[in-house]
Amino acid sequence: GVPAVPDPSRQLLRERRRRDRAMGGAAERYYADPPQIERGWGALLIDSQGRAYLDLVNNVTAIGHSHPRLAEAVSRQLHLLNTNSRFLYRAYADFTERLLEHSPDPALDTVIPVNSGSEAIDLAIKLVQVATGRRDVIAVREAYHGWTMAADSVSTSAFDNPSALASRPDWVHLVDAPNSYRGPHRGPASGPDYARQVAALCDRLADAGRAPAAFICEPVLGNAGGVIPPRGYLDGAYPAVRAHGGLAIADEVQVGYGRLGSAFWGSTMQGVVPDVIAVAKAAGNAFPLGAVITRREIVDALRREGMFFSSAAGAPAGAVAGATVLDVIRDEGLQQNAACVGAHLAAGLDRLAAIHPLLGTVHGCGLYQGIELVRDHETLEPATTETAWICERLLGHGVIVQPTSERQNVLKVKPPLTLTIDEADMFLAALDA
Ligand code: PLP
Repeated sequence: GVPAVPDPSRQLLRERRRRDRAMGGAAERYYADPPQIERGWGALLIDSQGRAYLDLVNNVTAIGHSHPRLAEAVSRQLHLLNTNSRFLYRAYADFTERLLEHSPDPALDTVIPVNSGSEAIDLAIKLVQVATGRRDVIAVREAYHGWTMAADSVSTSAFDNPSALASRPDWVHLVDAPNSYRGPHRGPASGPDYARQVAALCDRLADAGRAPAAFICEPVLGNAGGVIPPRGYLDGAYPAVRAHGGLAIADEVQVGYGRLGSAFWGSTMQGVVPDVIAVAKAAGNAFPLGAVITRREIVDALRREGMFFSSAAGAPAGAVAGATVLDVIRDEGLQQNAACVGAHLAAGLDRLAAIHPLLGTVHGCGLYQGIELVRDHETLEPATTETAWICERLLGHGVIVQPTSERQNVLKVKPPLTLTIDEADMFLAALDA
């Protein structure tokens, strides 16, 4: 009800946003009048009016906004050297060696740097197709894997990717998202039922002479709402695919790098070892850096076929960013922090669920949680309008949190891994209010 104060700079901003929106910008999707963010520190963002917001959406800046170690390391490198002759400089080796220290298995001994998660997924698909000499890939519904050609093809998020629905190529085959809260199979024991879908699809494809090259899945399903696949899913699906000579790709772009708290990788948390791992986002803390981790022989197969090289991927400044992020995660105990603050947050959300009927369930773990809002606990009718309203109201309480694109009734909490207990409490109090 408060009339807007005419402010030429805000009008300009709104105009710019209108254009941005036409080009796919997202701010107005959730806010009538989004703030203009100018600075960040840790898990906080500061707007042009000096207001602070708790940033619960930024899963890219894992070590927090404007981390001084990162700013100094990258700036120093930019003053020394930034070029693409990557085999000649130390930063590249530093990054790949540091990343391999986290390899979930000694056989996964090779890192190829790329510029983004989309590129990591495209490369992962190319690798498995060349290594197996096959085309077909099994992907999971409600997933988003990126916007480049192959990544887009294995994504089904209509919200981000309308073109994918119309243009999905015939080498992609979909199975249901293994969601034990809603979906064809319910309950904590539904993992094997969902895994049987993968096994049955493998059998059908093999019968048609098109045994799959790979199965691609996020170890925790991002767009589906931060859903942890029930036990028995990945550890059932991986052997089914491998029994047909296929490979397993884990998209760890959102959930890797310690975000889940109990493990550095979602795959490890799920007790599986993929053949190819795709990483990005946290890898460069918003520097354009990603990577594929895989076995040497898989890379060699592609090397025999041709090129996989992108000019700026793994260049010194990005590589230094990558190595520094891993150092900071280790030195500041950020994975442990994700476990500890994540558990505190989950307990607080459980308390709120007991008193707020809209709160259906809380998915995820560590600092990757999805708060699912429903109108009815039996029918699970999504409380979509209410979620949008809550999201807008939370902005007024200084909290930036947004629904996941595939499930507009799930608020996804994925802050920097530096989130403190006090900051988590601030969010809980705002949500309660
Ligand atoms: N995979 C997952 C699970 C993602 O969430 C995303 C981006 O949101 C991507 C891949 C694509 O990464 P990028 O945006 O760096 O291209």
